[in-house]
Amino acid sequence: MRRKAWILLLALLLSLAACDAPHHQWTFLAMDTVVSVDLQGGLRGVEALEAVGERMAVLDAQLDRFTAVSEIARINHAAGEAVPISEELRGWLTEIQAFSAASDGALDVTLGKLSDLWDFGAAKPKMPDPSEVQARLQAKRGLEITDKGVRVGADAALDLGAVGKGIACDEIARILQEKGTKRAVVSIGGSILLWGADTFRVGIRTPDGAAGESFATLQLTGGGAQFVSTSGRYERGFDLNGMRYHHILDPQTGAPVQNGLVSVTVIAPTGWQADALSTACFVLGIHKSRALLSNNHAAAVFVDEQQRVFVLGEVSMDITDARFVRTEATP
Ligand code: AMP
Ligand code: MG
Repeated sequence: MRRKAWILLLALLLSLAACDAPHHQWTFLAMDTVVSVDLQGGLRGVEALEAVGERMAVLDAQLDRFTAVSEIARINHAAGEAVPISEELRGWLTEIQAFSAASDGALDVTLGKLSDLWDFGAAKPKMPDPSEVQARLQAKRGLEITDKGVRVGADAALDLGAVGKGIACDEIARILQEKGTKRAVVSIGGSILLWGADTFRVGIRTPDGAAGESFATLQLTGGGAQFVSTSGRYERGFDLNGMRYHHILDPQTGAPVQNGLVSVTVIAPTGWQADALSTACFVLGIHKSRALLSNNHAAAVFVDEQQRVFVLGEVSMDITDARFVRTEATP
């Protein structure tokens, strides 16, 4: 009897080795969005999934400004005083601060109170009072990282909405490495991690199209971890008097960016860079994004209101929807 059990076990192991490692899939909510994980991880796949879930919960407790006890919420509620923070958060904020400066302030993680004023998620959205927008824009917002901790202006609030999902992709890549995962596709809102030696085909969402509809397909080869992030004005926002008021704010005006762009997709060496770049390039527009993208070894696909598609950097892409037309981005 024992011999039979051993033979069965051996057969199972051989079949696992012979065919592709089994798939493990999981979809759940974290970071205020849908997280979907599809991985082929051999015998440690379930372990990897569990670790991803746990890590996402910890990230929410670090970064979500609406969770009262998160590290970010504690900084926001400290009335301008420095708050001691984890080494991890210090590391991310230091990188973000440098990136923000390099983007000429296009990425600005101190706009939380302006986003609150616009209240894009409201059931009955309305235009905010322009004098209030000005007041919140002019308030001392600066982020300071010192030996004592981190502080943000008393009348400002940190909001890592533009980078958190990318940071999460980086953290998940670390877990997949540790667990020996062979292949994985992870999506967190508009941020995607592709893991493994395969060629991946990833759709770029049709702006204003149905969920799951894409106008183009990216081919990504290279192995290891690859990161793609999209920022779109179709995401959170409202339409009023023929204008689209959406969640990506121009730090110069405190109002939603109105530059004719509808989405920006970035491929970058790390998740946080892809995420930070997609937001920053949306704010900067095509021409001002050139240097920032190349300094970050990244490439981008811009889509404008006329369904013109502009590419900066090396991108392998097929446009699958004839309404969208590839157009040269003149310097
Ligand atoms: P994303 O979808 O990655 O482009 O991030 C957009 C989110 O980042 C918004 O929903 C806001 O929470 C926040 N945000 C809006 N404008 C900016 C900006 N100029 N810089 C940094 N964060 C921003
Ligand atoms: Mg972003």
